Amino acid sequence: MKRLTLVMTHQCNFRCRYCVQKHEDVHMSRETAFHAVDLLAEQIRREKNLPRPKVQISFYGGEPLLAEELIKEVISYAEEKLLPDLAEEMRFEITTNGLLLKDEFLPYAKKHKIMLALSHDGLGQDFGRIDREGKPTKERVDEVLKRMLSYFPKTVIMMTLHPEMVSSLAESIKFFRDSGVDCVNLTLAHGAKVHWTEEHQAELISQMETLARYYVEWNKGDRRFRFAPFDVKIRNYILGKNSDDRMCHFMGDKLMVDVDGRFFPCNHFIGNEEFLIGNVADGPDMDKIQSLDRQRVEPETCRDCGYKDRCRHLCACANHGHTGSMCQVSRLQCEYEKNVIRLADQAAQKLMKPDNTCFLQRMYKD
Ligand code: SF4
Ligand code: SF4
Repeated sequence: MKRLTLVMTHQCNFRCRYCVQKHEDVHMSRETAFHAVDLLAEQIRREKNLPRPKVQISFYGGEPLLAEELIKEVISYAEEKLLPDLAEEMRFEITTNGLLLKDEFLPYAKKHKIMLALSHDGLGQDFGRIDREGKPTKERVDEVLKRMLSYFPKTVIMMTLHPEMVSSLAESIKFFRDSGVDCVNLTLAHGAKVHWTEEHQAELISQMETLARYYVEWNKGDRRFRFAPFDVKIRNYILGKNSDDRMCHFMGDKLMVDVDGRFFPCNHFIGNEEFLIGNVADGPDMDKIQSLDRQRVEPETCRDCGYKDRCRHLCACANHGHTGSMCQVSRLQCEYEKNVIRLADQAAQKLMKPDNTCFLQRMYKD
């Protein structure tokens, strides 16, 4: 799979408490976006001896739907340029806060295989995710979620957990399930604006324990509910390899292009000159790429850990976000990983039964 992510704008109609964006009025031009697609096409052409890849183009922000018209132009251009000779299949992905999602966009998204993911913090939405005018957003985003689910029953929720809202984590996930959602991803908020105390961390583990019990209930028989932290750990075990590593595309098969055409390894590093690895005009800076790759080593504290084949300790973005270093894992992340693995294994023991075919099929799907 070849992945290209285009940062369409730094501006946003929200002002989330934990956001790391500066919300400047800078937007990607048509020329830059098309240039990035051209570079991707050239790269695939150079690899002509390999089978045609699947290609995924993701639109990112700020709020990407502020650039809805350009997104549509890029999709048409990319489909024309890559299909059918260069790409076997094309998928698109937009992560949105939802409020700019128009009804007319939903059939368009279906036609062009756009996966829409909704950022929603559950019961913590009004605490963490306020609009530009400082107003709460939950009621309005809940309405958007209903509309999305009627079109895309598999709508994915991207939830960010602020430490102040940790005590409502399990009930937030239950809220999503009760709303008809069957897939939730969870990220722990990090960065300079966020502080996880010892008490928050203890509460986080307690909430995950409650969630593990819900997860077992919600995945028996024909029912299913994907809670990504547990799903991923169970799949890691089955596959015998760490799919978390594949999720971190740092210096891998994903190119992230900022509004002005500069390349960064992934969204967390956007705008950070230390991680600038080229631009659309000059192409990738191979020396810088190799130098960053050499710096990305296994954290010293993880070398002898029995969990390391199933843990996200190599995720450069999560490490840098929590500790300021790509190669240092925060205590929060380490404890969280250990407990998620423990709880996922306990849940799997209860769910991996011969008659629980729905769950087994999901876990053994590849
Ligand atoms: S919606 Fe995303 S980009 Fe906008 S303020 Fe919230 S976290 Fe930042
Ligand atoms: S559980 Fe902690 S020590 Fe073990 S690999 Fe993960 S981050 Fe490192």
